[in-house]
Amino acid sequence: MSESTSYRSGSVAVIGRPNVGKSTLTNALVGAKVSIVSNRPQTTRHRLLGIASFPQGQIVLVDTPGLHREQGKFKASAMSRVMNRAARGSLEDVDAAMMVIEAGRWDEEDTLAYNVLSDAGIPVVLIVNKVDRLKDKSALLPFLAEVSQERSFAAVHPVSALKRKGLEALVKDLLGLLPEQPPMFGEDEITDRSQRFLAGELVREQLMRQLGEELPYATTVEIERFAEDGALLRIGAVIWVEREGQKAIVIGKGGTRLKEIGAKARQQMERLFGAKVFLETWVRVREGWSDDEAALKAFGYE
Ligand code: GDP
Ligand code: MG
Repeated sequence: MSESTSYRSGSVAVIGRPNVGKSTLTNALVGAKVSIVSNRPQTTRHRLLGIASFPQGQIVLVDTPGLHREQGKFKASAMSRVMNRAARGSLEDVDAAMMVIEAGRWDEEDTLAYNVLSDAGIPVVLIVNKVDRLKDKSALLPFLAEVSQERSFAAVHPVSALKRKGLEALVKDLLGLLPEQPPMFGEDEITDRSQRFLAGELVREQLMRQLGEELPYATTVEIERFAEDGALLRIGAVIWVEREGQKAIVIGKGGTRLKEIGAKARQQMERLFGAKVFLETWVRVREGWSDDEAALKAFGYE
């Protein structure tokens, strides 16, 4: 047998500034929604593993909150620090990293991410994501040349995580960077997180998607109940907000918004768990939770 046919497995951190598509890419490689996605920066708050198994090997993807400057909306808040810590911490003990950027754009926070990665001493694959959005396709090659100039990447891959383009070649390169060893997880496993955790995330995904302005950042979700009842999953979710006024907005007129949030989250849970779900939701107030290290810990933020 030649070397290229041997089984490889290992872990790859997914790093980049908020909103470039790290979670979309993780899900596309895994083939299931293990990590929530929205068009708002800082949707991902936890580090989680997405497990992508192929006949030639297994890639354990470490999806992270985006590396961001601790200013603006998140100015030095405890949440902001926790998220950057999770992103940096994910570089320990991985075999390689993917640095994700958007096609046609390189900004200050990309430089921040690159600098963190080059200090990590691991091979870095540059992912130029969202190529489907490029109007002028002839701009891609010069852009790839520009961003890789004077920077050291093990490979550069233009992809569309959303349209699942360019992923086959990427998988091949990633596997090549991993050691020859048996898989760390079973081939049917897709994440290291519990269904209970994923249920909370799917509610939070709807909060990120359905609430406007700053409100999503003042919310978190706690799963109070997760019980199997025959073929049915009974799930109880508490949505925590920081102030009374926010509670009224989440609930909406006559409860319509909360109903819509619950309905969409339930659909997503049924798809991911392959089971019927009965979901109950409540909204409660805990003042200042997002800037309170003890509250963050209680809500499961490492
Ligand atoms: P993250 O913050 O880096 O994890 O980014 P997400 O995966 O949450 O994606 C942020 C936004 O970009 C979402 O609205 C995604 O649907 C969108 N997105 C991600 N990948 C692509 C892509 O390849 N093409 C396009 N057009 N949009 C994408
Ligand atoms: Mg994300």
